[in-house]
Amino acid sequence: MRHIEDLITQLSPGDRVFLRADLNVPLTNGKITDANRIEAVLPTLRTLLDQGAVILMATHLGRPKEHDLRWSTAPIARVLHSDFDIPIEHVEEFPPGEAVKNALDSASHGSVLLLENLRFDPREKTNDRDFAQGLVRHCKYYVNDAFGCCHRSHASVSAAASILPAFSGFLIQKELKILTEIRDSPKRPFWVIAGGAKVKDKMGVLAQLGPQLDGVVCTGGLANTLLAGEGIDVGASRTEPDALNAVKELLSGGPEPVLPVDFVAGDDLEHPSEVVSIQAGDPVPEHLSFFDIGEKSLDHIKSRLQSAQTIFWNGPAGVFETPEYSNGTREIACFLAQHAGRVVIGGGDSAAAVRQLQISDRFHHVSTGGGASLEFLEGRTLPGLEALSKSCRQDNECTG
Ligand code: ADP
Ligand code: MG
Repeated sequence: MRHIEDLITQLSPGDRVFLRADLNVPLTNGKITDANRIEAVLPTLRTLLDQGAVILMATHLGRPKEHDLRWSTAPIARVLHSDFDIPIEHVEEFPPGEAVKNALDSASHGSVLLLENLRFDPREKTNDRDFAQGLVRHCKYYVNDAFGCCHRSHASVSAAASILPAFSGFLIQKELKILTEIRDSPKRPFWVIAGGAKVKDKMGVLAQLGPQLDGVVCTGGLANTLLAGEGIDVGASRTEPDALNAVKELLSGGPEPVLPVDFVAGDDLEHPSEVVSIQAGDPVPEHLSFFDIGEKSLDHIKSRLQSAQTIFWNGPAGVFETPEYSNGTREIACFLAQHAGRVVIGGGDSAAAVRQLQISDRFHHVSTGGGASLEFLEGRTLPGLEALSKSCRQDNECTG
């Protein structure tokens, strides 16, 4: 794979670069509520601007089914300009045609044009080559810094990289370096904390990391599923019984999983009117679910994690979005923030939880990848990364 450093050596002022970024930021009433993804692409953006490149930047935003201006990328351009001082213009025409060409022709060296939402055209998701061609037609180089989109075989991440000489940006490089370390050579003792809602999603990661694991902490739906499988009453808690045998098999032969011993149970996920503490093994009224782990569990988990050198955390310990169930996730996050070992956080909701607590900068790494980082850790081939590697093989510029 060629990196942005390789591009810098051949870039001349005025060269046009197509930059696929992941600026899929949360929007409420047209306002950006978390600029983390915008900040993540700044190193690549600023490096290209410093070289005098004319950047045609593109992202998807939300899940519009068609051209729908509620999902316009215009607010992103405004924030890049006002908060980060990036010389940028937003172009409304999409897919790009004459107006985009004219805008590129008149753009100053060292400036950005932001295209409309890639998903305004259904051909983005079908990896349509003609659509990709239309996106990059007026550019000389292609840069992908959208790590969080690399697991999707979409036109701007996959087909587009096969049309121009393609390079990875700084964010992709950083994610690859850290996630490869975690996957292939973590400093031991190595622990995983697996929680969240989607049990099956965590299984691929556990399968891949399993042989190197010195310990696993299970919370959330994974813990509930395992406890229910042992005949422990979990009331109406979220479980995935059809995944139970596979999970048990995965964990067998490895270290004994650390399971919660007490819970915060409630009658409703979002607006509880009844919230009680329950010890594992006690009878649970059938209208209650375990939505968080309790204090005893937290003490136990923290003491077990004390000596870990590397910790990968994926999946919140409870329903952190609801204040009544947020304690477990907050306690684990704060404990990990001051832990001496190397802590890496993966998964979209886990990353959102630590950002909400405003402690993201206290970890070795908080992956921007969500599903992409999990698929990478599972050892799967990500179409976006594959396309970058193929591009340089095609140009005979590298062997990787
Ligand atoms: P990530 O995005 O970090 O990989 P998931 O998507 O698997 O994590 O799960 C995140 C969601 O899990 C959060 O929205 C949280 O509310 C939910 N969750 C955590 N614990 C529980 C629980 N005990 N019961 C139901 N939902 C839970
Ligand atoms: Mg999630």
